[in-house]
Amino acid sequence: MSGAAIIDGKAIAAQLCADVGAAVTRLKRDYALTPGLAVVLVGEDPASEVYVRNKGRQTTAAGMASFEIKVPATTSEADLLDVVRGLNTRDDVDGILVQLPLPAQIDAGRIIEAIDPAKDVDGFHPINAGRLATGQPALVPCTPLGCVMLAKSVRADLGGMDAVVIGRSNIVGKPVAQLLLAENCTVTIAHSRSRDLPAIARRADLLIAAVGRPEFVRGDWIKPGAIVIDVGINRVAGDGDRHRLVGDVHFAEARQVAGAITPVPGGVGPMTIACLLRNTLTAATARRNIALKI
Ligand code: NDP
Repeated sequence: MSGAAIIDGKAIAAQLCADVGAAVTRLKRDYALTPGLAVVLVGEDPASEVYVRNKGRQTTAAGMASFEIKVPATTSEADLLDVVRGLNTRDDVDGILVQLPLPAQIDAGRIIEAIDPAKDVDGFHPINAGRLATGQPALVPCTPLGCVMLAKSVRADLGGMDAVVIGRSNIVGKPVAQLLLAENCTVTIAHSRSRDLPAIARRADLLIAAVGRPEFVRGDWIKPGAIVIDVGINRVAGDGDRHRLVGDVHFAEARQVAGAITPVPGGVGPMTIACLLRNTLTAATARRNIALKI
C-alpha cells in the first residue's frame, strides 16, 4: 500500500489538550481563575451519556471545572430554558453546552438562542455564526475548528488552495467553509443537489467530507496529492455481531491518491472535544478581557 501521510488526529488533539491544560495552570496562578464548562444532558440516550462523560473527564484532566446537569427526557422547553438562563448568570460557568439531539417537545433552536453568546462554546448561536461569517472574533463550532487545525498540521498556510466541502450543515459544512474562506482558500460547498460531485471533488487541493454516508467519496474523486479531511462517523456491520466505524471517504482507495488523509477513527473525532476545551478557555478569558495565547 502506498501513499498518503496519515494525519494523527489523536496525537494533535492530545497536544492541544496539553496546551489548554498549561494555559489553565497559568490562569489559575496569575488570575486565580478556573474556567468552568457546564454540559446539559436531557434524557438518557446511551451514546450522549458516553459522550458527556468523556467531555467531563477531559475537562477535569485539563484542570477546568466540569458541571454536569442532567434533566429528565420529559423536561419541558420552558424548564430547559430556565436551566440555561440559570447557567448564563453563574460566574463559575464560562462555557455552556446543551447536548444534542433534544427530545421532540423541545425546539433546539430556541434553546441555543437562549445561551449567552459569550458562553456558547459549541458556537451554534446565530450571533457567533454571524460573527464568523463577518470575520469578527467568535466562538467557532468545535468540529470545523478541528478540521482546519488538522489541515494546517499538513500545510501551515492554506492560502490560495482550492477547497471543496461536501455537506452544508450548520454544525459542520457551513462553518468549515467560512473558516477556510478566512484562511484564504477558494471554497466550493457541495451538497445533495450538486451536479457531478466527483468532478467537483477532483478540483480540490483540500477536500472536506461531511456527508454522513459511509465510504461515499471514492479514490477516483480525489486529486493526486490532495489533503483529505474525513468528518464522517458511520457505524457499519463488521465481523459477526460487531460494528466498525468508517468515514465518509473510502479510506483504502483514497490513501492511494491523497497526499495526506485523516483516518476514522482517530482523525477529526478526537479534535472535537479538544476544541471544546479550547473554546471554554477562550470564553473564560474573553469574558474577562484577559489576553492569553495558547
Ligand atoms: P447532516 O446530515 O446535517 O448534513 C449532511 C450534508 O451532506 C448535507 O448538507 C447533505 O446535503 C449532504 N449530503 C447528503 N447526501 C449527499 C449526497 N448524496 N451527495 C452530496 N451531498 C450529500 O450531517 P452533519 O453535517 O451533522 O454530519 C456529517 C457527518 O459528520 C456525519 O457522518 C456525522 O456523524 C459526522 N460528524 C462528526 C463529528 C465529529 O466529531 N467527528 C461531529 C459532527 C458530525 P443537503 O443539505 O442537500 O441535504
